[in-house]
Amino acid sequence: MKKPELLVPAGNLEKLQTAILYGTDAVYTGVEGLSLRATQAEMTMAELAEGVRLAHQRKVKVYAAMNIFARNRDLTLVRQRAGELAEIGVDAVIISDPGVLAIVRQAAPRLPVHLSTQANTTNTATVRFWHGLGVKRIVLARELSLAEIGEIATAVPEVELELFVHGAMCLAVSGRCLLSAYLTGRSANRGECTHPCRWEYTLTERTRPDEPLVVTGDKRYSYLLSAKDLRMIEHLPEILAAGVSSLKIEGRMKTVYYVAVVTRTYRWALDAAVKDPAGYRCEPFWLTELDKISHRGYTTGFYLKPKDKAFAGVNPDQSYRKTHGLAGTVLAYRPAEGKILVELRNHLVAGDETELLLPDATLPLDSTAMTDEDGQPIKEGHNSYRVYFPMEREVPVGAVLRRRLDGV
Ligand code: SF4
Repeated sequence: MKKPELLVPAGNLEKLQTAILYGTDAVYTGVEGLSLRATQAEMTMAELAEGVRLAHQRKVKVYAAMNIFARNRDLTLVRQRAGELAEIGVDAVIISDPGVLAIVRQAAPRLPVHLSTQANTTNTATVRFWHGLGVKRIVLARELSLAEIGEIATAVPEVELELFVHGAMCLAVSGRCLLSAYLTGRSANRGECTHPCRWEYTLTERTRPDEPLVVTGDKRYSYLLSAKDLRMIEHLPEILAAGVSSLKIEGRMKTVYYVAVVTRTYRWALDAAVKDPAGYRCEPFWLTELDKISHRGYTTGFYLKPKDKAFAGVNPDQSYRKTHGLAGTVLAYRPAEGKILVELRNHLVAGDETELLLPDATLPLDSTAMTDEDGQPIKEGHNSYRVYFPMEREVPVGAVLRRRLDGV
C-alpha cells in the first residue's frame, strides 16, 4: 500500500511554517497574481523562495498554484513565473488551464506539473490525456466516489492522484462557479470569490414575492446555498485502499490556528491508518479537534454514496460553527526563566479558557498567569501584545495558542 503524503494549505509564510511544525509532508500556496485564492493566499516570489528554503530543510515539498483560467493578458506573467518557480526550486506547479500548461512546459520543461481539481478530471481516459501532455499528478474532481477513484488508480498507476480529504466544498462542479462574478463582479475563476454561497437567502414563490418561504426554524433568511465542509478522517483506510498519492486539505485563506489543528490531527490519523489500516479507529478526540475549528457542519461529500442524498451538502441552519479561535503564537521559549513569550493575535482576558497546541499534545494554559516582561500580571491583552506565560517544558517557536470563544 502506498503511504500518501499529507498536503496542507499555506497561504503565507507563517502558515507554511505552522504546517511544517505540525507535521505536514507538503504544502501548497498561491503564486502572486496567478492563483485561485488571490490576495490573502498568495506569496510573493521572495516569500516563496524563503518558504521553499525552509520547507526543504525539513524535507517538506512545496507546490505553487498558478491555477487561474488565464486571459491573454496573463500569459506573459505565466511564462515569467514558470521560469522563476523552476529557479526557486518548487517541487511542482499546479495549473488548470491547458494554455498555461503549454507555456509552463515550454518555459520550464523540468518543472513537475500538477493538474488542479478545477480541471474537473473524472475518468481514466482524461487522466491519460493529461499525463500524455506531461502532467505528473492529477487532483481528481471532488464529485467522484471512492470506488471510481480506486478504478482510476488501478488503471493508471503511473500517474500520481491527489484527493481532497478536508475543508470547504464549493457548491458548483469543481469550483467552476459564476455566483460571485454575477453578484459582485469578482470572479471565483480569477481567485476573487466573495463567497456569496455563504450568504443568507430567502426562497419565494413567484406569485407571492412578499411572503418568503421559511426554510428552517422560524428564521426569515437561511443559508440556502452554503455547503457543508468535507471531513474524511473517519474513512482514511478506504482512501488508502483506493491507492492515491496525496491527501489534500483545503483552506489557503484560513488562519494559522486552522492550519495547526488540521495538520496535526490528520498527521496523527494518517500515521495510524498507514500503520494498521485494518485496526484503524478514528479517535473521538480527533473529531473533537476538528469541531474546534471554524466549519459549517461536516459531510463525506460524494466519496461514499454518490447516488443518494449523502452529500446532504447544504446546511441551511447556519453559516459557520466556531467554538475556539486563535489566541496567539509562541515567539520564544525562555528555559532559564521557565516562560514562553507569546504574541497575542486576538483579545485575551485573564480567565479565558486557553490551550497551547504542540505537535504531539495539547497543554492547558492558565490565562490568569499571563504577565508582562517584568512579571506583572496582565488582566487583558489585545492583538499584537507581547505577553508571557509560565512554561516548564520546551515549546517550539510558532506553536499556536487557542482560546474558547465567549458564550460557547
Ligand atoms: S461562491 Fe461559493 S460555490 Fe461559488 S466559487 Fe465561491 S465558494 Fe465556491
